[in-house]
Amino acid sequence: MSKVATALKSANETKSLIIGQDVLQQAFIVFKEQFPGKKAIIVADQTTYGIVGETILKQFESNGIKQEPAFVYSDPELYAEYKYVEELVAALEQHQAIPVAVGSGTINDLTKLAAHLTNRPYMCVATAASMDGYTAFGASITANGAKQTFNCPAPQACVADVDILSAAPTEMTAAGYADLFAKITAGADWILADALRVEAIDQTAWSIVQDGLHEALSDPEGTKNGHAQAVTQLTEGLMLGGFAMQWSKSSRPASGAEHQFSHLWNMEHHLKNGEHVSHGFQVSVGTLAITALYDLLLKTDLENLDIQAAFKQWPTEEELKKQSLAIFKGTDFPEIGWQETSAKYINHQELEKQLQTLKHNWQEIKQRLAKQIVPFVEAKSRLAIVGAPTEPEHIGISRERLKETFVRAQYIRRRFTVLDLAVRTGYLDQWLDQLFAKDGIWPIN
Ligand SMILES: [Zn+2]
Repeated sequence: MSKVATALKSANETKSLIIGQDVLQQAFIVFKEQFPGKKAIIVADQTTYGIVGETILKQFESNGIKQEPAFVYSDPELYAEYKYVEELVAALEQHQAIPVAVGSGTINDLTKLAAHLTNRPYMCVATAASMDGYTAFGASITANGAKQTFNCPAPQACVADVDILSAAPTEMTAAGYADLFAKITAGADWILADALRVEAIDQTAWSIVQDGLHEALSDPEGTKNGHAQAVTQLTEGLMLGGFAMQWSKSSRPASGAEHQFSHLWNMEHHLKNGEHVSHGFQVSVGTLAITALYDLLLKTDLENLDIQAAFKQWPTEEELKKQSLAIFKGTDFPEIGWQETSAKYINHQELEKQLQTLKHNWQEIKQRLAKQIVPFVEAKSRLAIVGAPTEPEHIGISRERLKETFVRAQYIRRRFTVLDLAVRTGYLDQWLDQLFAKDGIWPIN
């Protein structure tokens, strides 16, 4: 049985997923199987309607599936914003038709939430291998100026035609490759959380994402050039990431500190030359930053960690409250630092126990991490080959800001990552000095 077929069994929401060349023609069969007797409504933007939407509409028509007129967003500035969800909800409320989202991240997220709000399942026809959100539980939507994840089920059925995905703009494929690459550092963070008994690894979710991950990332050249096998592997990897999130109802299996960089930049309303930077592109830089930190961690002799020194620099809860409220002062999310870090705070006694565990098991932990991490130089080379950004400046982030992000990111999520390890061992400042030194990866003059 294929990896995807095995993973489908553990997915609670997605019942049918077809990935392959020339599978678009099976879309009507999938729809009829999954939604017998139901009407359909195509949801697309003008681009995706032209490329695939109209084809599906005609295919459904000639195969006896009744439809409402297609819902095509006309706004060229369309993005995953709540007002666009409301537009679609208003349209869906007029009937009972099953939405068929034809597009990538934005269209899928808008449809996912609108379908949920109008109490119906939906189907998705992917047009780019640009992120792992297709099959994920939850939609990432900006509401009241802030990007938020809304809980809502993944599509019941999904069709990903590799010929169409291969023809998508290369920067979309590059973004997807980076989002898949992020599962390397996300996995490493989970290994750390597991080893320090903060959050045990769920073996099912782990296998869904991690088995075959290194292999799926092994051909950036083929991925860039749209070779069917490489794009198929990429697409499967991204879909599997979504399945793991469905299984655990958490993004832990697919998202670690590298994603916190992207989330923080979104919260800060980061734009490059006035434009949004795609999720995958932000994650590409985040992944490289966290990989660089892992390279330093792996070179650190934690068997001889000075626990007393770490102990001294660890704040009391009262001190943490001050720190965490100060760090986002003047932003539109002043409270989140305290809200999230207090949720993962441990007292000095617990810290000592945790660092003892780290010290005693360091050789074993180090081996597990070394097996997981793709070293910085190699990671950078592959991301460059595929056409993803490899320098912070490529996405409009200065080095100073990247350095700050290392500090700020761990305040915005309670999830335990390598950033927490860096803070708890007291190594963060030293590692950042190395990364941003004259002979470091990102020298700051
Ligand atoms: Zn992602």
